Amino acid sequence: MVLLALSAAPAAAVRYELDYAADERMRVRVCVDEAAPLRRFRLDPGAAANLDDLARERGGTLARRGRGFDAADWKAGECLAYTVSLGALADRQARDVGARVGGDLVVSPMQWLVATDAGAPADATLRLPGGYAFSTPWTRLPDREGLRRYRIPATPDDWAGMVAVGRFPERDVTVPGGVLRIAALGGMSGDEADKMAQWMRTVVRGALAAYGRLPLDEIQVKLIASKTRGGAVGFGQSTRGQGQALTIYVDPKRPVEELVADWTAIHEMSHVAHPYLGESGAWLAEGLASYWQNVLRARAGQLTSDQAWRLLDAGFGRGMKARGADMTLHDITADMHARGAYMRVYWAGAAYWLGVDVELRRASRGKLGVDVALSRFQQCCLARMRAWEPEAFVAKLDELAGTDVFARRWREADARKGFPDLAPLYAALGIVREAGALRYDDGAPDAAIREAIMRPPRD
Ligand SMILES: [Zn+2]
Repeated sequence: MVLLALSAAPAAAVRYELDYAADERMRVRVCVDEAAPLRRFRLDPGAAANLDDLARERGGTLARRGRGFDAADWKAGECLAYTVSLGALADRQARDVGARVGGDLVVSPMQWLVATDAGAPADATLRLPGGYAFSTPWTRLPDREGLRRYRIPATPDDWAGMVAVGRFPERDVTVPGGVLRIAALGGMSGDEADKMAQWMRTVVRGALAAYGRLPLDEIQVKLIASKTRGGAVGFGQSTRGQGQALTIYVDPKRPVEELVADWTAIHEMSHVAHPYLGESGAWLAEGLASYWQNVLRARAGQLTSDQAWRLLDAGFGRGMKARGADMTLHDITADMHARGAYMRVYWAGAAYWLGVDVELRRASRGKLGVDVALSRFQQCCLARMRAWEPEAFVAKLDELAGTDVFARRWREADARKGFPDLAPLYAALGIVREAGALRYDDGAPDAAIREAIMRPPRD
């Protein structure tokens, strides 16, 4: 649906012309075709103060108001212009505002790019000085007359997103269904960027082992060079503001084998397959990513089936030992950050997805699984860039799969106190904990399902 809209796209109602200079200042021109008695422009709270020399090109008033300003008697095709110092935003070193990473700037567009409600989406053109790169979660359109062109997806204002500008290497990794646009930030060399692209090609092979194509047609991947503690890969995050993005901290000096061995990137990539599920949906979201980070690597041949089951089993063990057994998963998820209850939330969530996967496969004689249901969701619903209530999401998955498994098990899991008892599931699958290892019983009733989960799907 998005692709159709793009190929037949009329000019968007809102057009941005962006002109970046080596002094770290962005000149912005915003034109809106639709006339309005009162046109409202908005940014993040307090961000209107970031704009310098703000004026309507044909004259007329701009009144500061709330999160932005109002333009009375807006004529069709009118434009306004201003300048913003992206360097000054980066110097604030604040989450959701901006930061400097090496010589590169990472800044939130909602701090400087005014939004208005004139029919979504918006188009942008960008002029850059020679040798500069620009990374965005936006959809890239073909360049024209030396200008980069973009379509900016309309997403809720409070969804975080970041653009990066500087002299960093960019790499595209194109796969069935879409492209990863990699920005190698924080002073990475061209060789290191090539290593990042090699790493991401491996990670995305895991993602493709779910249902054969990337869930969204474009993903911004910001890889930030940093000295990570311990492993080669540090903190990772998935954000959806103005498009899908992944941010991962990485030590680019480490060999590619160490990057590939880490689970963070395939975890973040797995989040792309579900919509934003809000805070109460965190266990569902983190559970899927924690389940798939192991299943998909096994399917792609990056882990053996035994390694994948042992990693899942170790995760369930951490979840079981975590505090908060007296609280329901619903309540502890709401309090996850304050209580540091990540292990319980992530691995109780992973246990939900494993339970659903097994029941679906059992009931359908192997025709359905979590992968098939999420593939159907991707085709009908994923690209619409809106939040889903967790209950509505599982109901939709049931509708698409013709089952009641997702919603029934979701209600049970959400209301359950303590970690679920996995003993019956393990017995059915033929997974036996023995002397600190796992043994597999091929005579167990669902032994074939155990094997199928770690194998790529047939269609
Ligand atoms: Zn996650």
